[in-house]
Amino acid sequence: MNNHLQFDYIIIGQGLAGSLLAWQLLQLRQRILVIDSTEKNTASRIAAGIINPVTGLKLAKMALAESYLSEANSLYSTLENYFATTFFQSRNMLRIFKSIDEKQLFESRLKDPAFRPFLKTVHPAHHFSCLSDDFGSGSQLCTGYVNSPLLLDKMIEFLKENNAYLTKSVERSTIKQNSNGVMIDHYSAKTVIFCEGYQASTNPWFKWLPFAPVKGEILNASIRTPLSNHIINSGNWLLPTLNTDTHTQFRFGATYEREKLSTLPTRQGQETLVKAIRCIIRDGSNAKIKIRAHLAGIRPCTRDRMPFIGLHPQNPKLAIFNGFGSKGALLIPYYASLFARHLVFAESIPKNCHINRYWDE
Ligand SMILES: Cc1cc2nc3c(=O)[nH]c(=O)nc-3n(C[C@H](O)[C@H](O)[C@H](O)COP(=O)(O)OP(=O)(O)OC[C@H]3O[C@@H](n4cnc5c(N)ncnc54)[C@H](O)[C@@H]3O)c2cc1C
Repeated sequence: MNNHLQFDYIIIGQGLAGSLLAWQLLQLRQRILVIDSTEKNTASRIAAGIINPVTGLKLAKMALAESYLSEANSLYSTLENYFATTFFQSRNMLRIFKSIDEKQLFESRLKDPAFRPFLKTVHPAHHFSCLSDDFGSGSQLCTGYVNSPLLLDKMIEFLKENNAYLTKSVERSTIKQNSNGVMIDHYSAKTVIFCEGYQASTNPWFKWLPFAPVKGEILNASIRTPLSNHIINSGNWLLPTLNTDTHTQFRFGATYEREKLSTLPTRQGQETLVKAIRCIIRDGSNAKIKIRAHLAGIRPCTRDRMPFIGLHPQNPKLAIFNGFGSKGALLIPYYASLFARHLVFAESIPKNCHINRYWDE
């Protein structure tokens, strides 16, 4: 008697990548099973989920900004309707200038039609009474944040209802392969898709890919000052979660650590973040900052800052969907749709995100 449960795809990892890819494959009527080890400090569980298509000191617009935003808006609103829950909050961003040069760059971008949908007003110095904005600030549009922990919890319920979820830490050496596909315990599928976040760097079939994981630490904190309701960006970001006349609760992050990779918060990380909070708030050196939580996780970054997507070049029973770095909330909806269409309809994957760009026989 054959008591194997047969699927089209087994997805290992239920972070934002595994969850949104699972959703897209289900929309295309594929039979899927998602397996996750339910670790606490995964990138998707601790991330602020901020979406911002114009970033960095050079105020660069991402190459596919409009497409990423359109796919993200569409997918998050579909999920919001389906689950009757809000996941995405649109929130303008306030970029605090650290120099006259930064202000002038923003002003020149404002005149560029390509940036018109993304940048709005330049505010003079001291426009915001609560902020330390000596060189002024600029408003950014098309920004906001995704509540990914809530989305993941809703997705678990949904997958369980569809007999498509299993809690388990998959030992890679137990994945069996035969002419029909792969087997994990008594679950079989034609392809297993690894969505393991930073842990993919030790995956024996994909460790040839140049992963460049980066640890990040975040604080949940509050101060007895009303702040602006914007997401505040000053190199670090401050995301107000509750703003009253007397105090503000917020999330603040994040550190970048490439050497000492762990999901444990550190005293040094906390000190760095508290110092940075004080720099953003007017008269911040005296501010009483109450720390409510201190979290750490590891971003699945890649050397060329592009995702790792595709079937293994020599073994199409194995696939990977990973490498969304520090921009998963914006990028994953677009690439989940693209990869699902590749798997089901054989639509092509662009070279710059296909894993084949690193395959050297
Ligand atoms: C501090 C910090 C701040 C961030 N801020 C932002 C932000 O503001 N905006 C933004 O867009 N992005 C942000 N990110 C990045 C974002 O979190 C990631 O891009 C995204 O969450 C990656 O999702 P993922 O599913 O690839 O990985 P993960 O979230 O790491 O998920 C991987 C999953 O795979 C599971 N898994 C791994 N191996 C196995 C196995 N063998 N068996 C079973 N399960 C397994 C893990 O338990 C986990 O659930 C931040 C990240 C960090 C760390």
